[in-house]
Amino acid sequence: MLYRRRTLDLPRGKLETPVLFPVRNLGKRSSDNTPAYAGTIPEFSAAMINARSIRNREPMWNRLTNGVSLREEMGVPEDTIVFADSGGFDFSSEEVDTTPAETLDTQRQLNADIYGTVDLPLSRENRDAENERRVDQSTQYALEASDQLDSGGFLLASVHGYDPETVRNNVRYLENHGDFDGYALGSMVPIRTDYTKVTKLILAARKATDKHLHVYGLGGLVYQPLLLYLGVDSFDSSAFIRSAGNRNYLIPGFGGEELRNIESLEHLPCPCPICGQRSLDEIREDRTALTRHNLWALATELRRFRYVAESGRDIEEYLDLRFQGNEVTLRAYETAKQQVRRLT
Ligand SMILES: [Zn+2]
Repeated sequence: MLYRRRTLDLPRGKLETPVLFPVRNLGKRSSDNTPAYAGTIPEFSAAMINARSIRNREPMWNRLTNGVSLREEMGVPEDTIVFADSGGFDFSSEEVDTTPAETLDTQRQLNADIYGTVDLPLSRENRDAENERRVDQSTQYALEASDQLDSGGFLLASVHGYDPETVRNNVRYLENHGDFDGYALGSMVPIRTDYTKVTKLILAARKATDKHLHVYGLGGLVYQPLLLYLGVDSFDSSAFIRSAGNRNYLIPGFGGEELRNIESLEHLPCPCPICGQRSLDEIREDRTALTRHNLWALATELRRFRYVAESGRDIEEYLDLRFQGNEVTLRAYETAKQQVRRLT
């Protein structure tokens, strides 16, 4: 079992890991539609933002460079831990319009605690040669950021690769040639339904470094226990927002359920502060409530895993149960289990 707990010493305070960074779509739309959650769920006093989209949203950027703090703009407490990624995910379809220096400058101006380096995600459709170029380019961007970062900021090098060997070589190369506080594995979202492949890539990264390991974009309800089992230190997710948009209700221990499939229930199977006293109908009518519940569901999944680990119960036995209902994830977990056992 590779699950581990650590404490990160960040400019704004300490952060206990493993941790989930809920994604805020600040800057992406005319108004940020993430409901306020900071301060309501203790372990989620953290957020992931996209540095590029905030910088590109002129009115917002003007406010932020004229005295309004990022946390004020987000409506969260000033001690909220912020992970600013480069916005590289947008470069799957758009041209890179930033440089490592400009991205660092934006991350610094936003007072972010954790910086992700500029990267070019791989695409499933791309040819091998093009993907190879993207992997190399992301590595060069990361090294440039490492050269230019003087102080402050916890720097995570964004790493890509479609096979375990590329991921491993990449992390080792960056480790030897740059100065990073950890690594962030990207390009997982387009292949997220291939659980076994994703699991192998994550394990390759985990084996290549003992430093902090973040996985971009996979913090949903089903992946979360797998990531924890594989020793991932942090992850991010916008699944709670996206699911709520589809009237999809996340149930810890199970997964997502469309509300229309269970309409005959009066109360939902969750005692969180949102669902505990509301009826199913009330929650269905209130997207913000549904989004908040979905975040609670992610918190519950994380708390359960921690409980199993701290109480000395057998995590593999728990995960055998957790995944038994889904053949695809069960197979991925079985693969992970075999690989992890070989390591420990
Ligand atoms: Zn709930």
